[in-house]
Amino acid sequence: MTVPSQGPLRRILIVGGGTAGWMAACALNQAVRAGGTRVELVESDAIGTVGVGEATVPPIRQFNQDIGLDEATFIKATQGTFKLGIEFQDWRATGTRFFHGFGDYIVNAGPFSTLNHWLVARDLVGEAAGDFDAYHMAAVMARAGRFAAPDNDPRSPYYYFNYAFHFDAGLYARLLRTKAEAEGVTRHEGRIVATDLHPETGHIRSVRLDDGRDLSADLFIDCSGFIALLADKALGERFIDYGHWLPVDRAWAVPCASVGPPSPYTRATALEAGWQWRIPLQHRTGNGYVFSTAHVTEDAARARLLANLDGQALDEPRLLRFRTGRRERFWARNCVAIGLSSGFVEPLESTSISLIQGGITRLISLLPDLSFNPGLAAEYNRVQALEFDRIRDFIILHYALTQRDDTAFWRERRGMALPDTLAYRIETFRETGHVVLLNEETFVAPSWQALFIGLGLIPKRRDPLMAAQRREEIIETLRLRRTSLASAAQRLPTHAAFLARLGMTE
Ligand code: FAD
Repeated sequence: MTVPSQGPLRRILIVGGGTAGWMAACALNQAVRAGGTRVELVESDAIGTVGVGEATVPPIRQFNQDIGLDEATFIKATQGTFKLGIEFQDWRATGTRFFHGFGDYIVNAGPFSTLNHWLVARDLVGEAAGDFDAYHMAAVMARAGRFAAPDNDPRSPYYYFNYAFHFDAGLYARLLRTKAEAEGVTRHEGRIVATDLHPETGHIRSVRLDDGRDLSADLFIDCSGFIALLADKALGERFIDYGHWLPVDRAWAVPCASVGPPSPYTRATALEAGWQWRIPLQHRTGNGYVFSTAHVTEDAARARLLANLDGQALDEPRLLRFRTGRRERFWARNCVAIGLSSGFVEPLESTSISLIQGGITRLISLLPDLSFNPGLAAEYNRVQALEFDRIRDFIILHYALTQRDDTAFWRERRGMALPDTLAYRIETFRETGHVVLLNEETFVAPSWQALFIGLGLIPKRRDPLMAAQRREEIIETLRLRRTSLASAAQRLPTHAAFLARLGMTE
């Protein structure tokens, strides 16, 4: 029997230099360099990266902070803007809209949640209770085109919201590359043409470049994008397809000229066979139509996108092909797949980069030594799979509750069978108003509430404790909250003025 080697990893090789590769390079290098482990990265300029204009969720703030990337520097270098959430147009039915804001609804409503108050007020006064969005500071600020950082004081109206960013992913990868190289990461340029596996253990020994060089390592991180050079091509790790729930499989992406100041939110508009994103950057607006080729041709989708832009197209639309799903095992043998090689869920809630971040953070906390204890990979795979599947459920929810029946795409979405985990969450909310939550989810109760209510799912039950509240008081409390949030938003700078204060041009 061979005794497993001991001791720390000597070399980690990251395959791929897109957003995933350079995020992994920065964070891993900072974690392991003191222990003497070298981090290297190989990428091919000729192949390039996905990098369309991108939107994120709030945890990216923590990632940047952890790697020592100052927010103003980041915004400036990536043409970034601030994102308070996503406005969904035409999802429940054409002509409807709702906002999924980051952070929480204003919760200082005594012991009861904003949702409990709002439901009772709605029973009493109908539409006069206002939209549920009107009680979320992020939504109110976004619609007023305002932005400022949150306050630390829970008594402040600016306490409950959170934010993320829109940015040019290509510029972000470039910024991270400069930082990683300055901190000691070695970059190799070249195209990988072969992979060599250890005949006994099946571990990857090295990758061969087109110029004949071999790059060996103890641990390989597959950040090669959809091609999944190591996880799929070399190791044949199984892919679990989500396509029967999420049939979109293509996107046309095109930047257009900005027609006004950048809005501090993403817009996702439901179209006939998918949906369109609008992501404002400082210098342009990113747009894309994510669609299902079973329901619309590529040509028709391209024309639809071009007809639906705010400003003049700045480039030819670019077609991206993808498959929705995830690896069964993200970490197999001595290789961990992170980024598009590990799986992909359509970018409706901007979750890919947060899955990358989660993967990197988890890998650092479960970092193997040369013995590669299998328990580490098992735990990594368990949690990463949960993360993917929960995000999958959250994305399916956007379609599952639609009332649209104007095209085959939407009629099929209305009637589709759901994953049991999602069916249970929907049923529990419908019957009780309670959001089922599991540990450490990316999306917590306010996000699920925003979607349920925004898509028209009003729970049947009211909290019995609300019966003790005077009706007039409930209505008056909500009215005051609504007006105070609206006026608090107006006291903030515009998003453009806030960017200008950071040194960006107004
Ligand atoms: P890639 O960017 O594809 O990088 C792959 C790397 O591998 C490249 O450096 C390439 O050179 C290298 N490589 C490949 N083959 C070889 C080879 N043979 N030899 C050497 N090197 C090789 N995410 C979000 O968080 N928010 C969004 O709004 C968002 N929108 C998206 C919209 C669309 C339509 C798509 C498809 C994705 C979107 N994503 C979004 C996902 C996001 O783009 C990716 O998760 C992110 O860019 C990471 O990609 P990656 O680094 O895994 O792969």
